[in-house]
Amino acid sequence: MKHNTKNYDYLIVGAGPYGSIFAHEAAKRGKRSLIIEKRPHVGGNMYTHKENGINVHDFGAHIFHTDNKMVWDYVNQFTEFNGYINQVVANYNGELYNLPFNMNTFYQMWGVKTPDEAAAKIAEQKEAAGISGAPQNLEEQAISLIGTDIYTKLIKGYTEKQWGRKATELPAFIIRRLPVRYIFDNNYFNHRYQGVPVDGYTAIFDKMLDSELIDVQTNVDFMADKDTYLEEFPKVVYTGMIDAFFDYKFGELEYRSVRFKSETFDSDNKQGNAVINYTDAETPFTRVMEWRHFDQKADEGKTILTKEYPQDWDRTKEAYYPVNDEKNSTLFKQYKEEAGKQDKIIFGGRLGNYQYYDMDQVFGAALKAVEKEFKDN
Ligand code: UDP
Repeated sequence: MKHNTKNYDYLIVGAGPYGSIFAHEAAKRGKRSLIIEKRPHVGGNMYTHKENGINVHDFGAHIFHTDNKMVWDYVNQFTEFNGYINQVVANYNGELYNLPFNMNTFYQMWGVKTPDEAAAKIAEQKEAAGISGAPQNLEEQAISLIGTDIYTKLIKGYTEKQWGRKATELPAFIIRRLPVRYIFDNNYFNHRYQGVPVDGYTAIFDKMLDSELIDVQTNVDFMADKDTYLEEFPKVVYTGMIDAFFDYKFGELEYRSVRFKSETFDSDNKQGNAVINYTDAETPFTRVMEWRHFDQKADEGKTILTKEYPQDWDRTKEAYYPVNDEKNSTLFKQYKEEAGKQDKIIFGGRLGNYQYYDMDQVFGAALKAVEKEFKDN
């Protein structure tokens, strides 16, 4: 045995939330897991590190938000949350607007002061744009929800640089992630439970994986020795890219990537908000995070800001966002069918399922897989 040296019950590929929850739950049931992780750290894109007393989210802002009480209770056993509520500001060529789209935004855009006035303005713009019937793409969906002015200033530029394609070529569901509200409420999410862990996200994983029945190996590439791994382990949980698993045999699924550039300043407060989105087409980054504003208890005198730049994805870059358009969805179906035939392998997570999951959805999916796997004990 080259890899399964301890009679492991599971090989788990990827130490992100899906794989880590699975290993934790398996250990609770007396099952032994080996987790192999390509990167040098656990936690996947939820990974955070502490610098100048500030928790920096290395792979972009992660705010846990959910309506699922079971998931919320589950994650709270590993950490305390700080009650942070995300309130994003948009900067469009120097004009500032509140997000998500709500009465504050409508007032700032048009000077309207009541929900009726805002609704009339949106209806007028939707009609002028000739939109009726079910929206066929992100542009039509956006205009039909909040009108042309907001679409032009707060959505089009941001969306097209974020996704590297025209808003008319993107699925409508992406913009429905953002709430539209006819009340003065800047909460970016509609969910009942929300926050950021007081000790950062990495501490959650350290706790989750702290078991004699779990071994973690970082900097290990499953694909480099896939056949041996599959031969040696009775069961595998795979959270990497589903097309990579099958050696891209039906073709390559597309992803969007991002890169981050951080800077530290001698200040307690540089930009005045945790997240500012730059919604024009020309600014090369989409948003700037000031991490101390997520934490509410950082040391004084230093602040760290990170700019997020969207970029094309290729196999040398991290795959952040699946591109769930028609072409890729059709291709994914082929892989999914193939995955269904592998009875000793469970495919999970954002990359294994090629879904634009939020953290709570990954938690929910992992707990479901656990329930199915251990239904008898
Ligand atoms: N979006 C936008 N303007 C913004 C923020 C978001 O047009 O200022 C659109 C954009 O298409 C983005 C989508 O809304 O991809 C979803 O935004 P969200 O903040 O949920 O994206 P994530 O945080 O997952 O990157």
